[in-house]
Amino acid sequence: MTAIPPSSSCRARLISHPSQENPGKPFFCPRVHPHETVTACCPRLGRYCCVPFMCNGRAPLMLGPDWTVTVFCLWPTVLTPTGLYTYFAIPWIYTHSQVLAYISIAVILFFWATLFVATCTNPGIVMKFNEPDPDAKSESTSRATKRFCQKCKLYSPARTSHCGQCGVCVYGYDHHCGFMGQCVGGNTIMAFQLFLGGICFVTVFMIVSLMITNSIS
Ligand SMILES: [Zn+2]
Ligand SMILES: [Zn+2]
Repeated sequence: MTAIPPSSSCRARLISHPSQENPGKPFFCPRVHPHETVTACCPRLGRYCCVPFMCNGRAPLMLGPDWTVTVFCLWPTVLTPTGLYTYFAIPWIYTHSQVLAYISIAVILFFWATLFVATCTNPGIVMKFNEPDPDAKSESTSRATKRFCQKCKLYSPARTSHCGQCGVCVYGYDHHCGFMGQCVGGNTIMAFQLFLGGICFVTVFMIVSLMITNSIS
């Protein structure tokens, strides 16, 4: 079993295993970067706090560097009114219209799901230590499909941008959102847009459902 040498060019905490003996198996780069800490309960990826459940290197669950805004501002703002509606209004709606109550539950759960995905999941961080593809037809083709990030010291695919606030490269980077606490990237852009639309939709839905129930009671 060959020992894995420390990689001087590893910027992301989690990179692909370079050994042929364990292809694809993730491991933590032994080099500790100045702003990164390694603890058993909370591995870091750039400035992201990852849930120690790496799921074969994809690190699906994490909180961004602005997680305090998310946890103490956004979540209470969203969960308080919808939670009160769920706890008090839906049982009352159920006594008059079971169908409307089930629809209400589905709408609220879907809205909470978009919030969870947009704030707690990997936005598309480029974690693999990607060398230029040796099978690329030419150097110009390789350059067109991959770029090298000087800060992360790794190759990343097209449509990737580096986020200075998060300290990572994000695939499908849209912007860094302080309220979401992290970047909005290729993995979370759909949930982010659904959440934004859901704020208006759920507000109107809760009012209308209460008005309908009141009219039939
Ligand atoms: Zn980068
Ligand atoms: Zn960011």
